Amino acid sequence: MGYEGSEPITAKSTKPAYTRPEVAADPENDLASVIASAQELLEWEETLGAAGFPTPARVATPPSAHAADAMHDVRARLQVLTDGAAECTRCELHRGRTKSVFARGTPDTDLVFVGEGPGYHEDQEGSPFVGRAGQLLDRMIAAMGYERDGVYICNVVKCRPPENRTPLPTEAQACAHFLVPQLELVQPKAIVALGRCAAENLQVVPPAGRWRGIWGEWRGIPVMPTYHPAFLLRSPQFKKPVWEDLQAVLKVLNREAPKR
Ligand code: URA
Repeated sequence: MGYEGSEPITAKSTKPAYTRPEVAADPENDLASVIASAQELLEWEETLGAAGFPTPARVATPPSAHAADAMHDVRARLQVLTDGAAECTRCELHRGRTKSVFARGTPDTDLVFVGEGPGYHEDQEGSPFVGRAGQLLDRMIAAMGYERDGVYICNVVKCRPPENRTPLPTEAQACAHFLVPQLELVQPKAIVALGRCAAENLQVVPPAGRWRGIWGEWRGIPVMPTYHPAFLLRSPQFKKPVWEDLQAVLKVLNREAPKR
């Protein structure tokens, strides 16, 4: 399915286009036409500021400029999706929303966290994981050695489900219209699925047995499913296995947790 802003953005050239002059069909005229073509080409090159033949070596654009352009493009496309989510009526969740909750952090990262859906505070502020569970998530992120806004955080659904219930499969499916391009644009090196709902929607829950701590893959990106921080607030004894999961993520990212 397409989404807004999926067309490639191309910069318009301000340079004049080179048009090859008409070459006479008469073979006797070949030499004259080659000379005429060469002359035209020289003139055209001069309009571009070049000295004519030989063509000067191209000055390579530094790769960092390309990367900056690409990131600018990613941010622009994410903004289109954000605006789309703010007006979305694809499922019934839109009726109860104060603000849609698209993401926080930076798309210029190697690590994405996907949660379930906004709660009361997130719905009020329009930003994911800003309540108590979010504060715990921030501590987990800091323990991994990232700045709070050095990762990208989003949810399976962008509008708050009533009474904070788990999103219905139909709601999650409707919101995949946003989640799928969102993750494809950010293209992290690893995703952490926070809680079973996120893990199921990223399709990394095995048909049977344990799901937490078992690596899966979403469109070629490694996904680590782990417990949701809201669950850890109620059951802090599970913080240890979650920390082990996050350490496994750091290993995949070739990073080390800072010493504590
Ligand atoms: N729980 C979630 O899954 N997401 C949020 O944004 C907040 C709480």
